[in-house]
Amino acid sequence: MVEILGFTALLGYLQAAVAKIQDPRKASPNQKYSIKDAVLSAFGAFFMQCESFLEYQRQLNSRKGRDNAQSLFKVSKIPTDNQIRNIIDPINAVALIEVFEQIYRKLKAKGYLKPFEVLGGQLLVTLDASEYFSSQCIHCDQCSHRTHKNGTVTYFHNAILPVIVAPGQEHVISLDPEFITPQDGYEKQDSEVAAAKRWMNRHIDLFDDGRVTLLGDDLYSRQPMCELAIEQGFHYIFVCLPESHTALYNWLEFLNANGSLREIQ
Ligand SMILES: [Zn+2]
Repeated sequence: MVEILGFTALLGYLQAAVAKIQDPRKASPNQKYSIKDAVLSAFGAFFMQCESFLEYQRQLNSRKGRDNAQSLFKVSKIPTDNQIRNIIDPINAVALIEVFEQIYRKLKAKGYLKPFEVLGGQLLVTLDASEYFSSQCIHCDQCSHRTHKNGTVTYFHNAILPVIVAPGQEHVISLDPEFITPQDGYEKQDSEVAAAKRWMNRHIDLFDDGRVTLLGDDLYSRQPMCELAIEQGFHYIFVCLPESHTALYNWLEFLNANGSLREIQ
């Protein structure tokens, strides 16, 4: 993506989004590092594909790493990983969503999404949740939790990380995530499907009507989800397991017995 889109443009989107973030810290004279330095330093760790923050820190401690951070990512003062965490933690990630949308629009305008089009001009978007934090002792009020049979509780954070995929394409195009986290005004825990619905509601205007096919596992193949997808102009391919779709499988059996079952690959 860097070559085709231009790293300067990409970084420009990120810097513009970061510039709009309100600093949640109380103003203090010893505020050495700006939000910009912290966010761009964190971005650097991912951009350089470091396995861990520690490894990134090691890189930064070398001359070349330091120069990279300063010249490539325009970080003025490089915070340590703890400082980065402390500064970034209270910031709402929603502030960065526009970056994903801007990159998507740019790729589309420049024709780079063409190779991803399948099934007559469709873009395939996978909806799948990933867990990125799990602990039995550390937790916060944004945590989801599961209670085990023996009474212990695991706290975790997860998010739907939608990507545009296509057969034969080595890379995927990341779209903005939707976090699965307790929602204001709801007693029940948030769920993957509820989060996916929020994501779809947020993206009505981003995609051209009828040009996106959502892909999802068996969790998604339920009537309310399918109705919402149709209502919002999405197509969908959702897995239907026999255990959760007995009526459907009865139909399939019936059609198969009549020789009128078609298979598409
Ligand atoms: Zn938490």
